[in-house]
Amino acid sequence: MPRRLGQHFLHHRSILDRIAAAACPEEEPLVIEIGPGKGALTMPLLARAEHVVAIEFDPLLAADLEARHEPRLTVVHGDFLKVDLTPWPATVIAGNLPYYITSPILEKVLPMPIKHAVFLMQKEVAERLVAVPGTREYGYLTVFTRLYAEPKLLFTVPPGSFQPPPKVDSAVVRLTRVPPSPDISDTAAFLKFVSACFMHKRKTLRNNLSGLYGREALDRFPEAGKRAEQLAVSELAALFARLQNLNEKPC
Ligand code: SAM
Repeated sequence: MPRRLGQHFLHHRSILDRIAAAACPEEEPLVIEIGPGKGALTMPLLARAEHVVAIEFDPLLAADLEARHEPRLTVVHGDFLKVDLTPWPATVIAGNLPYYITSPILEKVLPMPIKHAVFLMQKEVAERLVAVPGTREYGYLTVFTRLYAEPKLLFTVPPGSFQPPPKVDSAVVRLTRVPPSPDISDTAAFLKFVSACFMHKRKTLRNNLSGLYGREALDRFPEAGKRAEQLAVSELAALFARLQNLNEKPC
């Protein structure tokens, strides 16, 4: 188990209420909470949801929560990344995340058929999710997120709102699910392509992709002279589709 499990407990009541209100603007039948800790966010979520399933990795914290015998709360002791969520078809997921696994949590949650997720995360990561093309923050995680969701940075939270305070600023992000893009038929292949595009961020797409497609093929496309960070998700998807077409054409 990683030391301390990213345990920074939020104690500002008004911030906790704002996160719960963002997760459940209307009453929800079922909410999954990641990392409930001592239950600071669990209680405001229970005020807005009929049932909360709270998944906590720390055995002592999980046992303490369970000992409250709250009939509308199911406590699951386990690693969120490994817990099978199929018994709880929640359309809302929320949490003050353990920052050391933010990316794997997003990779698990975003492809799920949810309505939205509301997460408190490191501000620097939040800025990568909402980044626009042409900025330093725009990268693989931005494109991955946009495939599944429209991200909105709701508000920032200073270190002093936590006990113990983290070394970084934090931010609350709402990720609202979007329908799959009709331009991307094979998501796994597209993500492999995007990962190659951003492999060396300062290099052009021609350089990053020549191993996969060959320079000659890439020279047909004007975008090949640009860097990946200069292309919007739709432009990356269009380039991917055209390169796939080339690869599929018989010689
Ligand atoms: N929700 C509480 C709050 O706001 O005060 C605690 C948030 S704290 C930042 C993150 C919580 O996630 C901790 O309680 C920690 O034990 C838990 N945690 C860490 N890794 C986890 C994992 N892999 N699966 C589930 N919970 C985890």
